[in-house]
Amino acid sequence: MEHQTIYLDHAATTPVEPQVVEAMLPYFSGTYGNASGMHAQARASAAAIDSARRQVAEVLGCLPKEVVFTACGTESDNIAIRGAAWAQQQAGKGNHIITTPIEHHAVGHTINQLCERFGFTQTVVPVDETGQVNPDDIAAAIRPETVLISVMYANNEVGTIQPVAEIGALARARGILFHTDAVQAAGYLPLDVNALNVDFLAISGHKIYAPKGIGILYVRQNSPLLPPYTGGGHEGKRRPGTENVPYIVGIAKAMELLVEKRAAENARQTALRDRLISGVLANIPGSRLSGHPTQRLPNNASFLFAGCEADPILMHLDLAGIQAASGSACSTGMPEPSHVLSAMGVPHTLGLSALRLSLGRQTTQAQIDTVLKVLPGIIEKVRSLNPAFESPV
Ligand code: PLP
Repeated sequence: MEHQTIYLDHAATTPVEPQVVEAMLPYFSGTYGNASGMHAQARASAAAIDSARRQVAEVLGCLPKEVVFTACGTESDNIAIRGAAWAQQQAGKGNHIITTPIEHHAVGHTINQLCERFGFTQTVVPVDETGQVNPDDIAAAIRPETVLISVMYANNEVGTIQPVAEIGALARARGILFHTDAVQAAGYLPLDVNALNVDFLAISGHKIYAPKGIGILYVRQNSPLLPPYTGGGHEGKRRPGTENVPYIVGIAKAMELLVEKRAAENARQTALRDRLISGVLANIPGSRLSGHPTQRLPNNASFLFAGCEADPILMHLDLAGIQAASGSACSTGMPEPSHVLSAMGVPHTLGLSALRLSLGRQTTQAQIDTVLKVLPGIIEKVRSLNPAFESPV
């Protein structure tokens, strides 16, 4: 099956890299001790976690104790946002949060709940038509009671990259905590937390060729954080619960491989992405790229096709062995266009036509060329079934 299909949904999830599986295997049935214990089995697990933490810290340019292993990107975002907001509120620092309208629900819904149930207020700073936020607008939204700014590093639907380092610098200058969701960015962009000026940064294993069910949260030393979970002393009390040793080892290996492969893969995928984008725009009338033309993730090609709905496009692509997504996997099934496209000013009906093709390490030029051959006919077919559509040519 793998050999016949063309998988272009890496932004939803990635396969686990064989070297990651290999690194994890010894920690299921061989070294299985609870890392909190005193005996040799336990010490071996603890040593594996220590070593994984050091590996991750090296990639992030931080101290090992600033690395927290979590269960996923969603959990990393939740611990950071709730933990920081609650700590600041408890300390009487204020209750105002600044964010953008294009955040993943792991961030957006968390902040909404803090506002609806926990006495916070938020300013949602708009983005432009490419999905980018202007740091000056973030600066203008700051109030004396602002305690947290959360802006994603790169968007999951349209791939637009945000000026995170700049926003981090202005947050730092005003003594405001800064969180970034780097779940989509981690596979492609620099992750030095000091260059990025972040206090909290979230990563998910399954977007970077590690398994589902493991994440990382970077927490800058001495940052105020009231952990949403209580329990044992694991992960410096920031994420209690017996450690998932094989998955921790796996995500650390995946982070190491990222750094090794990043330059070559970014160049390779960018070239394929651009071939895909220019081929689609040239050969499909009424097609439009969504997101930023250049400041976008190397693997993201997102389109809008006037006169189409995404679901039949996806169905026809699937029949042709091509696996893609409409907008984001997380919002598939909702009848409304994504909140991201709406925030970018995409009209309602056009927003329903969003197609996201996201490339990855196993994507080849032959696969991209197959998509370019098949897609124009599919769009034509879907449009022919839409009586309201008038051809743009
Ligand atoms: N943040 C972004 C930008 C994402 O794309 C996703 C997943 O799609 C998440 C957070 C949630 O990550 P996880 O699936 O590991 O909970």
